[in-house]
Amino acid sequence: MNALVKSRREPGLWIQDVSEPTVGINDVLIKVLRAGICGTDLHIYEWDEWAQRTIPVPMTIGHEFVGIIAETGSNVHDFSAGDIVSGEGHVVCGHCRNCMAGRRHLCAHTKGIGVNRPGAFAEYIVLPQTNVWFHDQSLNRDVQAIFDPFGNAAHTALRFNVLGEDVLITGAGPIGCMATAVVRHAGARHVVVTDVNPYRLDLAAAMGATRAIDVRHESINAIQRELGMDEGFDVGLEMSGNAQALGDMIANMCHGGKVAMLGIPQRDMTIDWHTVVFNMLTLQGIYGREMYETWYKMTAMLQSGLDIAPVITHRIAWDEYEQGFAVMRDGACGKVILNWSDG
Ligand code: NAD
Ligand code: ZN
Repeated sequence: MNALVKSRREPGLWIQDVSEPTVGINDVLIKVLRAGICGTDLHIYEWDEWAQRTIPVPMTIGHEFVGIIAETGSNVHDFSAGDIVSGEGHVVCGHCRNCMAGRRHLCAHTKGIGVNRPGAFAEYIVLPQTNVWFHDQSLNRDVQAIFDPFGNAAHTALRFNVLGEDVLITGAGPIGCMATAVVRHAGARHVVVTDVNPYRLDLAAAMGATRAIDVRHESINAIQRELGMDEGFDVGLEMSGNAQALGDMIANMCHGGKVAMLGIPQRDMTIDWHTVVFNMLTLQGIYGREMYETWYKMTAMLQSGLDIAPVITHRIAWDEYEQGFAVMRDGACGKVILNWSDG
């Protein structure tokens, strides 16, 4: 079958003919319909330091997808051929303390699809049945394809109560934009989003931001005054991985403010601990999404009127993936989706 493979230890990604995965008794074979390109895939493409340290070569990459079940193992009874499903990209060990207690998202031995095991940029992917999410079959197919990053956004956005609160989101990438829509849906008052990319700031505004500000030209403090906010933001969602953005956030939180940190720093970042201590801030690291409470909430929010579709700005054929990676590199995009098969 065709797959997009990191087959050389250098920048790039290549189309290869790889063998179809074998289906174990507890596995589900999924024919991939759509797959989203994630920032992680771009890191792997570019072959940065993290990728060099992390990715065994050759590796079929990709982890955001929706597909249709083609075959199920003999021990699988809850899924059938023809079901529209996505996969939770973290395959957990099942026997560490957290796994045994049902806190699978906190597993210390998690393996990532498209990172540590073959991924979804392929005609087929195989997953253990415990990693398969049965979709509301009526949801928009492209939206189903991005449940993975939507899950990052939703898990981070819902980590702290936002009803009636003022929320600061640093980073208007696809995840920051989806989080904007989620906190709006969840009843936040003011939602201020920052970035340094005008295209993405427009997207954040379209997804419901009260203000989307370019921090090169405007200060968060001035916006607070404009909005009549006296005490700082109640909840912060750090979604850029940028040191300056985190500094801005810590400086603009209210006393007792809560910050959920999803952004992955590219290098060491200094933190103004003085402010963290004296303003009694909470900093919460976030990785992945909850299995499967976040998946449930995503579905329920979509069914109750949340619309994240505008974050998808590019849809291209899988074999034109170079174009997709180029637009991601350029940054004039929201989510980019590869079409693997119609349906
Ligand atoms: P992205 O790289 O597309 O978006 C990050 C945005 O931050 C960009 O639009 C960039 O212009 C902006 N930015 C840069 N400097 C800024 C500044 N000074 N102030 C405000 N914004 C600034 O990433 P994404 O796909 O939307 O993901 C968001 C972050 O979450 C990334 O850091 C990503 O690596 C991380 N991530 C973490 C997890 C996890 O499980 N923890 C999962 C997925 C993604
Ligand atoms: Zn575990």
